[in-house]
Amino acid sequence: MKVLKFGGTSVGSPENLLKVKEIVNDGQQKVVVLSAMSGVTDLLVKLTEKTASNDKKGIKNILNTLESKHIEVIKTLFEDRTQQENHIQYIKECIAAMYVITTNEDTEEIYSKLVTYGETLLTYIFSALLTTNSISNRLLDAKNFMHIDSVEAPNIEKVSTLLDEILNQERVDIYVTQGFVCRDIKGKIGHLKRGGSDYTATIIGAAIEAEEVQIWTDIDGFHNNDPRYVENTRRISHLTYDEAAELAYFGAKILHPQTVSPVTQKGIPVLLKNTFNPVAEGTIISNQYGRKGLKAISAKDNITAIKIKSNRMLMAHGYLRRIFEVFDNYQTAIDMITTSEIAISLTIDNDRHLPEIVREIENYAEVTVERNHSIICVVGEGVIADQEAHKLFEVLNYIPVRMISYGGSNNNISILVETEDKVNTLRFLNQKLFCYEKEELVT
Ligand code: ADP
Ligand code: ASP
Ligand code: MG
Repeated sequence: MKVLKFGGTSVGSPENLLKVKEIVNDGQQKVVVLSAMSGVTDLLVKLTEKTASNDKKGIKNILNTLESKHIEVIKTLFEDRTQQENHIQYIKECIAAMYVITTNEDTEEIYSKLVTYGETLLTYIFSALLTTNSISNRLLDAKNFMHIDSVEAPNIEKVSTLLDEILNQERVDIYVTQGFVCRDIKGKIGHLKRGGSDYTATIIGAAIEAEEVQIWTDIDGFHNNDPRYVENTRRISHLTYDEAAELAYFGAKILHPQTVSPVTQKGIPVLLKNTFNPVAEGTIISNQYGRKGLKAISAKDNITAIKIKSNRMLMAHGYLRRIFEVFDNYQTAIDMITTSEIAISLTIDNDRHLPEIVREIENYAEVTVERNHSIICVVGEGVIADQEAHKLFEVLNYIPVRMISYGGSNNNISILVETEDKVNTLRFLNQKLFCYEKEELVT
């Protein structure tokens, strides 16, 4: 069985939902994972903000917008009056249930319950659309099997046991379910972070030992640079799991950072496809090595650089351990590190505990914090040995680079720049490394 996931734009309008219906209706048994319609999760995040500030008018406005958006879709997709009324009734019930949630005490679970509602609304509509077209399907509530215990290390066996039982209850061609939502170890409703439906798809793929996971989006595969900032980017036909993991972790928006981890061990291929151009080949992610060397560049924002300078011997035995322990105690992951005899610079992307970390380290060193940085990551199996790799250091002539990490792994060279220099860095590197016409640098 295959797992097919469709993202926000792919399900963002009645016309697009009809395209998705055509793609999934090929007579093969599959699980279809859907996101919310594009823009809906953003609105739901706003709804949680209005809930936190008890802004009743704001809450009503957002719920009205969500209601009419989904009712519009129903009116376009379903001609039959009774069906229309039934489906509209369901949407209204969901909106009423959401309103009740907004009146409850503001907690992490309330947040998750609200932000994941977009998937509930959309999967209901899509399953109904399949049924109207006599396509055998069943709507599965992901909350009944996505019991993953921890977002970082999902318990695939648990999902597998629960899901197998559900799938065996009634065999149909297409199982439709929600991306993004999950339950934690206490059974509370949680979410897999923004863009998490990709991760839902691979968790399900691993749980059912799928033959393939397909991620359908609005572009014809993984490109060698971020097409939102750089012109002349090019599709990559093949990535290894490691390459895809590095690129996704370091900011490539096309994939949730953890997408490939559940399927890597099992060797289940992940295929990236374009809903608006289904015949295009896309990108295949697997454990097969394609071409070695430089493949792609990505960028991760909201990075904080921390410089730790000590008048005592930094490299003295045990000193680094003391520093790393502080980060570890506050569960704060470090992305990049460079050292000299008297100072160490490192980066973090989660500064929730930064004040405590700084306070502790200041007991024995001078600490400087610089926010608003981006890590630019150049990726490819064996990229450090690529004959073209030296060209990327020319960036030093044009852009103030804060840190460089080379040799940490064979597959990744990272540089840290201020976020205001990110776009220019991406364009410069594109031009240098992929030999394109000159990119327009931002002035
Ligand atoms: P979905 O809603 O289907 O999950 P996303 O918006 O999350 O889609 O991801 C697709 C978008 O990712 C593309 O439209 C593109 O703008 C952006 N993107 C960023 N980096 C890349 C890249 N390296 N290759 C392809 N797309 C990328
Ligand atoms: N709807 C969620 C989001 O917008 C999950 C997803 O699209 O993958 O983040
Ligand atoms: Mg996405």
